[in-house]
Formats: sequence, structure tokens, C-alpha cells
Amino acid sequence: MEDNRRLLRELPSVDEVLMQLTPNIRNSLPHGLLVEQLRAVIAQLRERVLTGQPVSQEELSPEQVSHQALQSAYAYWEPNLRPVINATGVVLHTNLGRAVLSDQAREAILEVPKGYSNLELDLNTGERGSRYSHVVELLCRLTGAESALVVNNNAAAVLLALNTLAQGREVIVSRGQLVEIGGSFRVPEVMAASGARLVEVGTTNKTYQRDYRNALTEDTALLLKVHPSNYRIMGFTRETSLEELVALGRETGIPVMEDLGSGFLVDLKPYGITGEPTVQEEVKAGADIVTFSGDKLLGGPQAGIIVGKKKYVDQMAKNQLTRALRVDKLTMAALEATLRAYLWEPEQTVELIPILRMLTMKTEVLEKRARQLAARLQQLFDERVIVAVEPGVSQAGGGSLPMLELSTTLVTLEPVAGKVEKWAAGLRRGRPAVMARIAEGKLVLDLRTVLDDEEESLIEALTKYLPLA
Ligand SMILES: *Cc1c(COP(=O)(O)O)cnc(C)c1O
Repeated sequence: MEDNRRLLRELPSVDEVLMQLTPNIRNSLPHGLLVEQLRAVIAQLRERVLTGQPVSQEELSPEQVSHQALQSAYAYWEPNLRPVINATGVVLHTNLGRAVLSDQAREAILEVPKGYSNLELDLNTGERGSRYSHVVELLCRLTGAESALVVNNNAAAVLLALNTLAQGREVIVSRGQLVEIGGSFRVPEVMAASGARLVEVGTTNKTYQRDYRNALTEDTALLLKVHPSNYRIMGFTRETSLEELVALGRETGIPVMEDLGSGFLVDLKPYGITGEPTVQEEVKAGADIVTFSGDKLLGGPQAGIIVGKKKYVDQMAKNQLTRALRVDKLTMAALEATLRAYLWEPEQTVELIPILRMLTMKTEVLEKRARQLAARLQQLFDERVIVAVEPGVSQAGGGSLPMLELSTTLVTLEPVAGKVEKWAAGLRRGRPAVMARIAEGKLVLDLRTVLDDEEESLIEALTKYLPLA
């Protein structure tokens, strides 16, 4: 009892602790936050004393109290959204922010919002302009389409297109294309939200042009083709080609729309990446509307891009929803810079756009980087970790190119003692955070998605955060 009273008397006050901090430290955090954390530490100590838990003299010192409070205040003060080193080899990792932006796109994001901009002003005429004007001409030139519009993401693009062209009317879709993409985008649900009525035709594995034809009614507003993105049906299958849909559309005067999902603007066949049409191929094949994401294979910011016939795009631009789905100047700045990279020759574009660079990275380069990393890690970890180099496969991710097997070379780390899950957790919580894969009791690193200038930080994080005991 006597002891407790003495300890309580020794508890420092907030002011006492603040006084012994240097002005530099005191001013490195918002005052309110620091005081809040100090109060919390002191309250905790008081509680421990009152409930008879052991409290040492040292813990009550202003130095110890401030040390604890500063630690939690600094932890709180760190940004929640922060960079992560992606060592998973999944190029378009939705949880890790999808496309890594090009230098040019990042520069545009820094430059444009520093001051005012001509977001909605035509500098030539001094008249009010459209925020979309900055990219429409580029999108038309790159895709061959008549017109273009940009919204917040591809889900929004599909919603807007359906709402504009088919609200209260029927949209015909193959049963094989009623897909779910990443949980938050399901074709039937987006359709319902748009006010359009879904008319399913064909079967899961086979749908013919005649299935669409037989489903036509007075109320048919649109023929919709949806890219199956993250899944494929193998074996006994038949999908109606875009050309067949376009032929039916032309014959009946009904527009054809394709939700392309990813949307390549450059043909990567010379790099061995096949099976994915480019946007320009689909426009050329006659699709009246094509929608795709800005942050998938295009390699830009999150956006939904709509290209196609001017009369339909104009209708969409006038829809009230467009105002609600519109993109901001940061997105516009990054998107314009990203699109400009496609004006270069394809080999140059691939070098400028990080995700294209990653997808086309040569196997020899990946192997060399992996061997160098493995050698350094083995040296750093000596006998405590079994470091190996193994052939493996990276993924495009983001629902793109699910069948694509990108050969890579993996560095695997196996603990001599301890659990690899603990390693992964340690790396995830580190500064910088690192995301790796776990397979067969080993930590697996794929350098395809690790930027050149991140390699040193990766090694540092590995040495710092792997609990080797
Ligand atoms: C990814 C995808 C979407 C959703 O696009 P977001 O840009 O993520 O909104 C819609 N349709 C298809 C076919 C997709 O692949």
C-alpha cells in the first residue's frame, strides 16, 4: 500500500515529460498526438500500479515514458498507405496496387497538381474545356476508335455504357461470360445496377451466333461480349467470335459492346505473349464500344477507358452518371503520360511502361539476377538459411492472361530452424514491407516484380526482418 502510494507519486506528469524532450523531437510530431500518447502511457502505468502489478522505478522515469510514447506516436504518424516491395512475381497484383507507373506518369502526377492546371480550360480559346479532351485524341489515334471517354475504373465504364445504352431494355450475354472478377465485379450484378435486363444465352461451354439471334426481341438494346479474364473453359467449347457478333449487330442495327477487361495497346506476340487481343484489333473488328482498365495491361493509373463510335460515346458523356464516375486531374495527368509512351515504337514502349518491361523480361536476365541475389544472401545468412535457385513461373495477375506461364528463376530461402510463415509476417510488417510467396516450407522470391533500385532494400529487409533464432 505504502509502496503503491510512493509509486503513484513518482509517476511523471505530461508536462514533466514534455519538458525534458528536445525542441527538435517535440516539434517532429503534432503536439496533440504526442500528448495523447504520453497520457496513454502514464495512464497505463497508473493502472498497473493500482492493480498491484510490478512496476520498476525505471519505467516511471520521464525518459522511459517519453521513449514509449514517442514509439507509438511515430508508428501512428507513419502513412498507412505505403510502398511495398513485391517479390511475388505477380505483375498486376490487385492487392498491391496493380500497375507500377512509368517515370513519366509519376512526374506528371507531381507536376500538374503543384499549382493550377488547364483541366477544364481550352488555353487556345479561353473557353471552358472538357477534362477528357487531354486524352481523347491520343486514345483515338492509338486504338483507331472514333471517340473516347474515361471514368473511374472499368467497372464504372461497363456500368455507364450499360446504363446509357440499355437501361430498361435487354442485353444479350453468353452464359460462358457471366463472370466474377475479383469479387466486386460480377456481370449479372453490374447489369442489374445499370438498370439493364440480362438475357443469358447458350450454355457454359458453348454459345453460337444463332443463340444470340434467337434471343433478339423488340427490347434488345445491346449485344455484349465479356472477356472471361481470370478463367478459361477448356475442352469442348465454342464462343461466338466478335466478328460474328458484329455481323449480327450490323444486320439488325443493334450495337455490339465488348468489355475487354485488361486491354493491351501493344502487341506482345514478338515477346511470346499471345492469346490476348489488343484494343485496336477489337475496334477494327467492328465493336461499337470497347471498355478496358487503365491499371491492368495498359500499365497506367486506375481508370476505365471507353472507346468506340462517336454517337454512343457522346450519349455516355451526357449521362448524369458520368459526373459521378469522373476522374480527377491526377488520374488524367498519369493517364496522358502513360498513353504518350505508346506513341514510341513498341520496343521503346515496352521499356517505358514498367509492367510491360516486367512481362517481357528475358529469362537470362531473371536467372542472372536470381543467382546474384542468392549468392549474396547465402553469404549473409551462412548456415542458418538454405538458399537455393529454382526454375519457376510468374503470373500476369489482375485477371489478365491466366493461362500465360512466364518462366522465371526463383530464389528460395528455407529456415534451418523456425517457421517460414513467421518470416513472411516479419517481412510484411517491416520497413519497407516485402511481400513474398511461401511454397513447401520455403520463402519464395521472384525478382521479376522487384524493381532494380529495390534490390538493395530487399536484401536489407531480409537481413533485418527474418527471425533467424
Ligand atoms: C478487371 C475487369 C473489370 C473491372 O475493371 P476495374 O478496372 O478493376 O474496375 C471488368 N471487366 C473485366 C472483363 C475485367 O477483366
